[in-house]
Amino acid sequence: MLLQEQWKNVLDILQNEVTAVTFDLWISTLNPVSYTNDELVLTAPSITAKTQVNQPAIFDKVTNCIRKVFTPYTFVKIVEVQEYEESVRKENAKQEEVKETAALKTRFNRKYTFDNFVVGKSNQVVCAAMQSVAEHPSEKFNPLFIYGGVGLGKTHLLHAVGNYLNEHRPELNVMYVTCEKFTNDYVECIRTKNNVNSDFREKYRSVDVLMIDDIQFISNKMGIQEEFFHTFNDLYQNNKQIIIASDRSPKEMSALEERLRSRFASGLIQDIQEPDYETKVAILRKKCSQEGYLVDDDVIDFIAQKTGTNIREMEGILSKVVFYSSLINKTHVSFDDAKEALKDYGETERNDLDANNIIAVVCDFYGVSKEDVLGNKRNKEIVEPRQVSIYLINDLLGIPLTAIGQIFGGRDHTTIMHARDKIASLIKTNPHTKVAINDLKSKLTKK
Ligand code: ADP
Ligand code: MG
Repeated sequence: MLLQEQWKNVLDILQNEVTAVTFDLWISTLNPVSYTNDELVLTAPSITAKTQVNQPAIFDKVTNCIRKVFTPYTFVKIVEVQEYEESVRKENAKQEEVKETAALKTRFNRKYTFDNFVVGKSNQVVCAAMQSVAEHPSEKFNPLFIYGGVGLGKTHLLHAVGNYLNEHRPELNVMYVTCEKFTNDYVECIRTKNNVNSDFREKYRSVDVLMIDDIQFISNKMGIQEEFFHTFNDLYQNNKQIIIASDRSPKEMSALEERLRSRFASGLIQDIQEPDYETKVAILRKKCSQEGYLVDDDVIDFIAQKTGTNIREMEGILSKVVFYSSLINKTHVSFDDAKEALKDYGETERNDLDANNIIAVVCDFYGVSKEDVLGNKRNKEIVEPRQVSIYLINDLLGIPLTAIGQIFGGRDHTTIMHARDKIASLIKTNPHTKVAINDLKSKLTKK
């Protein structure tokens, strides 16, 4: 039965229960607008009408009649019509926002799947842990904290989890953010609203799976760790899955608050190691078949041997070789072409080495641009390669700090000294930085 019809039945009964004046003046002006979960909402045309009907003597009679027609436990609510319209408007806006958030659901890189991830000795445990979390979110390892050096596949695995969940559990709200994005959202909130308003909290706390990449960049300034701690606790208590990636273990993150460290330790902390030769070859083969590159086996061996442990960089070299062959109109990459294409790679004599070479090699390694490294950007993704360049220029070329400052857009020598010392101390505390610097050095100084 339609709501209006039911209401008419109510009115028929009510007519005999209240005085004609009450009925005509107040009751007949009510309008049923919704009936959900045993709650009937009636609008009154004015505050006065609402107040009148809400008087116990009238309200009880109205409720009784309604319960005869609807259900015996119907709950009755009288609202003034404008008040009601306002609440509907707000509710709609909220629904819209929810839809928008759903539309913003992270799109993951289609190339970064479990299928495309080559499993070897160095990464098999991490990969298994990630797969198991993807298959059983919130049931296995929570939080799952993975760490390892630059270019070893952490971001790839996070996207793989995202792709898997989008496909198999589309109802779940899966969010991937870099630590930088999380921080910026938070700072923006403080700046514009002067407090961490509910938007920020709702956004981060309404997810089922939260993945934060590059958490090593979390700052201990401005309450960011505090906010992260609350987000973390909230999700954790509501049994939501949290996955975190970092280039170093929680133990090695010196700026990390103790309470966060111990939260991370409550789940699984798993490292991803540098790939061995076989894994590198397997990754190169996979890449070739994925991209349709025709490359001789000895070229693949050659690239695997020549490169360090950073897989991103290794892929970059493969692309370079393929690109070179395409320039000379070859569809098939032979060993000689590869040698020719890579003749400058890692062949720099120590004496030829200059600051430019160093910066170029570091940029390749981290996948950032030279302009950014020389420029003023302060985000940590850029700051680290900048500091590494400074460290290496000082270490390998012995160029004085003030002169290095000139190369880096006139920075003063204390800034340069700080950068150098930062990396020098990281080499001691973070094995991945140590490996990265060794890799870079051997590349830069190879005969
Ligand atoms: P990280 O986040 O650890 O710095 P990424 O996940 O960005 O590294 O990986 C760098 C590149 O190397 C990506 O293109 C990724 O697809 C590739 N890669 C890393 N490990 C593997 C692997 N085991 N199999 C296939 N590709 C890999
Ligand atoms: Mg990454």
